[in-house]
Amino acid sequence: MNERLDKEIGPSSKITPSIFGCTPLGIALPLPSSFNPFIAIQVMQITDHKTIAKYYTALIEKDSQFTGIFYVGVKTTGIFCIPTCTARKPKMENVVFFSTTKEMLQNGFRPCKVCKPTQNAFEPPKEVQKAIELIHENPFEKVTDFQLKSNNLNPEKIRNWFKKYHDMTFQAYQRMIRINSAFQKLKSGKNVTDTAFDSGYESLSGFGYTFKNIVGKAPRQSQDKTVILISRYTSPLGPMFVCATDKGICLLEFTDRRMLETEFQDLQKRLNGVILAGENEHTKQLEKELQEYFEGARKEFSVPLHTPGTEFQNLVWELLQEIPYGETRSYQEQAVRLNKPSAVRAVASANGHNRISILIPCHRVIGKDGNLTGYGGGLERKRWLLEHEKIH
Ligand SMILES: [Zn+2]
Repeated sequence: MNERLDKEIGPSSKITPSIFGCTPLGIALPLPSSFNPFIAIQVMQITDHKTIAKYYTALIEKDSQFTGIFYVGVKTTGIFCIPTCTARKPKMENVVFFSTTKEMLQNGFRPCKVCKPTQNAFEPPKEVQKAIELIHENPFEKVTDFQLKSNNLNPEKIRNWFKKYHDMTFQAYQRMIRINSAFQKLKSGKNVTDTAFDSGYESLSGFGYTFKNIVGKAPRQSQDKTVILISRYTSPLGPMFVCATDKGICLLEFTDRRMLETEFQDLQKRLNGVILAGENEHTKQLEKELQEYFEGARKEFSVPLHTPGTEFQNLVWELLQEIPYGETRSYQEQAVRLNKPSAVRAVASANGHNRISILIPCHRVIGKDGNLTGYGGGLERKRWLLEHEKIH
């Protein structure tokens, strides 16, 4: 695989596998030879044998990377599902694959009641949405199991969802929201004692302990820390984490992206920041713009970005944003445009360190020969984005 990579981005010195962003190196997966990113996939049933085999494996493995990428219809029952469906898996001879829910419906399949594909599997279930509302109604009061139950919510179900989609417990999420609100108060000049008691803590030491645990510094010493707010966005390609500071969006990644933890740590280090659950004006603007993008109604983003990195990385990221919607470029072309034709590898690496997928469109960089070459969020998503931009 590295041979192909070498051919594409120049003679090999030493390949440094990139672990961030769009990961152009290290995971140059083979693609079906029939693939051509410049031809939009026809709206039709998927018939390519290799693709079918790949999708069937994803179905059996309940691979969430493929949710929104394909839908599977079961010929014997007339039901269609997403790959993560927990219902019993159909035999290979009984399935058909389509790429949109619309096609499934047009072909007479009904949405599965278990995985509810048309409602998009990634929307937090109603119960979870209600639990989140309870937290936000009064961030300074703990939502107990008793309260959940009296709202007809199943505490275990909610805990499981948080564990799976936020990788934290429901209690930890609540603590973060609480500390975040307290942090904002401290930053606006309120004193520690008032903030502690306003935030529902019964003792200063209890507040100080929890605060230090989450923020890493005592309340009084943390005024210089940057607050990085994290929230979750449900895209048609799966759930994404959104991070923002008061300067702008600093991260947008699929939640199942590999090495995400490392990316978070790097971000916190570079910004001297702490990641806390919450939203601000930028995350709200981003959600609106992403919605429009996925509907095919937006080609450029205007939400401010905050991109801590080296000078070179920032040059590369700015250049990425100049690639027009619906077009692609090679690493080589990017290097030439930077007036550094020999720095292909460095360009590829900086590309890979991009933390703001879609907005900084690293998915628009492909190999010279048309190969997709890699993507932190998964090649299937890269292919989907390129096709989406081609047809809208
Ligand atoms: Zn299902």
